[in-house]
Amino acid sequence: PSNLPPTVPLASQVGGHAGVQTTEDNSLLLKPALPQEIAFYQQIASDPTLSRLKQWTCKFLGTLQLHGTVKEGAGEGMPLEITPLDGVAENKDQYNDHHCLRSISLTDLLENLTHGFIKPNILDVKLGTVFCDESAPPEKRARMELEARETTSAETGVRLTGFQVHSNGAPGPVITSKAYGKGITASQLPEGIARFFPVSAEQTQLGLPANFLLPILVRLHKDIGRIKVTLEEIEMRLVGASLLIIYEGDWATTGSVEETWNAAGERVLEDEEDDADAEGVEDMETVNDDNSASDDEDSDDDEEGPGPVYIVKLIDFAHTRLTPGLGPDKGVILGLRTVLGLLSERIKEVRELI
Ligand code: ADP
Ligand code: MN
Repeated sequence: PSNLPPTVPLASQVGGHAGVQTTEDNSLLLKPALPQEIAFYQQIASDPTLSRLKQWTCKFLGTLQLHGTVKEGAGEGMPLEITPLDGVAENKDQYNDHHCLRSISLTDLLENLTHGFIKPNILDVKLGTVFCDESAPPEKRARMELEARETTSAETGVRLTGFQVHSNGAPGPVITSKAYGKGITASQLPEGIARFFPVSAEQTQLGLPANFLLPILVRLHKDIGRIKVTLEEIEMRLVGASLLIIYEGDWATTGSVEETWNAAGERVLEDEEDDADAEGVEDMETVNDDNSASDDEDSDDDEEGPGPVYIVKLIDFAHTRLTPGLGPDKGVILGLRTVLGLLSERIKEVRELI
C-alpha cells in the first residue's frame, strides 16, 4: 500500500452529491464509491463488448480505503491506502444508496478530467429519461418519474445539471446551479446551451471569442456523435449517467491552439510533427479520422505540451449495468440526439458571429 498526498474538496464540482475530492496537484479525483460503479469500471477494463466505450470514460485507477473512521468531509488531509481491486466487495449493504455516502470508507480513484485546464468551463448534462432502477421501491420510482416529467428530462433525455463558465477578467467562474437546469423547459434548452457557450468580444466578459469557440463546438459535436454511435451498439442502461463537457476558457491557451484549426474544425497544421508535439494535442487528434477503430487506444499521456482544449466523457455509473437482449438505452440515446441538435444550433449561431 502506498500513501497518497492530502486531498481537498473538488472546487470545480458542478453537479452531484457533495464529497468529491481531488489530490492537491489536481490530477486525481476521489469519489465515494458505489459497488455498481466499481463493477462497471472493472467491466469496461475487461469486457470486449465495452472496449469502444473506454475512450469515452475517464481512467479508473482503482479504489481506496480510508484509514480509521470516516467522518463527513473525510478524505481531506487523511492518509489513504490503496487496496487491490479484489478487496472491494465486502460490506456491500453499506454502499447501496447515495444517502449512506457519509459513512462510506471506500473511494473511487479516478482521473480528474479538469486537470491541465487553466480556466475549465464545465457542464454536467444528465442523460436519460428515467432515474431509477427497476429494482427501486415504488415510492422512489414515482418520485423520480415525476421529477423527470417536471424537468426537461422526460421530453428530451437531457437535463443541465450544473455548469461553470469563466471570464478572463475575474478570478473565479460564474456558477449556474442545478436549480436553473431543473427550472427551464425544453424550449429554453438552447438558451441554457448558449449560457454555457457564450461568445464574448472582450476578455473581461464570460466566454471565448467566436473564432475560438466554433472549432471546439464542431469537435464536441463530432465526439458526441461518436459516443451516440458507440452507445447504440451496447445493450445497457446508464441510469443517472452524465456527459461531462469541459473546454478551456483561457483566451491565451485556446487562442494559441485554435490557430492550428480552421473554422470548420479541421486541423490545418501538417501532421508530420514529432511525436511529442502530436501527443500534446492528442485529445483533438481523433478529429481527423472517421469513427473507425483506429482512434481507439492512442497513448494516454498528456503530461507534456499544452493541455487539452476540450474534453467530453461519460461519467457517473453508479446505476449502470449491462442488459443483454434488451437493446440500447433509448432515453440516453434520445438525450444524446438532443445534445447534438443543441450543439448544431449553437454552431450556426456562433458561425454567424465570425
Ligand atoms: P454523483 O453520483 O454525486 O452525481 P458524479 O460522478 O456525477 O457523482 O460526480 C459529481 C460531479 O463531480 C460532476 O458533476 C463533476 O463536476 C465532478 N466530476 C465527476 N467525475 C469527474 C472527473 N472524472 N473529473 C472531473 N470532475 C468530475
Ligand atoms: Mn452525477
